[in-house]
Amino acid sequence: MSKVAYVNGRYVPHRRAMVAIDDRGYQFADGVYEVCEVFRGALIDERRHFERLSYSLSELRITPPLREGALAIVGREILARNKIDNGYIYVQVTRGAAPRDHIFPGPSVRPSLVVTARHVDPAKGEQLAKKGVSVITMPDIRWKRADIKSISLLPNVLARERARQSGAYEAWLIDDAGMVTEGAASNAWIITESGAIVTRGLDHAILRGITRTTLIEIIKAQGLTIEERKFGLDEAQRAREAFVTGATALIMPVVRIDGKPIGQGKPGPTALKLRALFHDFAARTA
Ligand code: PLP
Repeated sequence: MSKVAYVNGRYVPHRRAMVAIDDRGYQFADGVYEVCEVFRGALIDERRHFERLSYSLSELRITPPLREGALAIVGREILARNKIDNGYIYVQVTRGAAPRDHIFPGPSVRPSLVVTARHVDPAKGEQLAKKGVSVITMPDIRWKRADIKSISLLPNVLARERARQSGAYEAWLIDDAGMVTEGAASNAWIITESGAIVTRGLDHAILRGITRTTLIEIIKAQGLTIEERKFGLDEAQRAREAFVTGATALIMPVVRIDGKPIGQGKPGPTALKLRALFHDFAARTA
């Protein structure tokens, strides 16, 4: 089956889907995006993803191309046309196409909107979660507004490529004070010896992960201890467990950080339990 993409009001064959070469996304990475998990045909945490998209757009003063309700309809239509049950949808909005100039174009330039979807085999994620993954650490060289889900991802791209070359799944980024900010495409978590589940508090240095937000609710509902605070590499390497979260990784146990085994060097029971609870939450939504 050939894939279908949504581009500026039209559903087109993915292979022939195009935006202009003077689109500001292409010229300046002047745009934002969202990735939303699809589980059994449903968009998981849809409202929170659309809210974060509105936040990113408003921080960059880009006009929303569609109202939330209309965007949700496009998302569902893309799932239906591509026959996707499990995977994710990708939404990208840029400031639009205009002759290249750093200064914002006038109000007649409409933002560009692209929506695509991709199938992911859920069994692959489960296999990986059973084994656990390795992470490496790297200096966080991103701009100071990582809370905006900008398409400008060059530092993240370099970090993930370095991780891949080292045989790792993810790179954790370290700020100038030696504290972990987040993964290059995920939020970073540890579980201390006393059982506290720790992730960095929200600031401009991290993305407000939707999986993170939902997981915090799940942790609280379970009566477990959550600490939203900074942690460094030392504390992470001494942790009982570690994991990352994201709309595609979900809750992924981390078993090595910079080559050092975490806990017993295999996925921890709490991380696996939280992964199962997250699946339950998604199943209730779907
Ligand atoms: N942090 C970064 C830098 C990311 O790119 C992502 C997801 O892509 C996340 C965190 C996790 O966010 P979410 O749970 O909304 O996917």
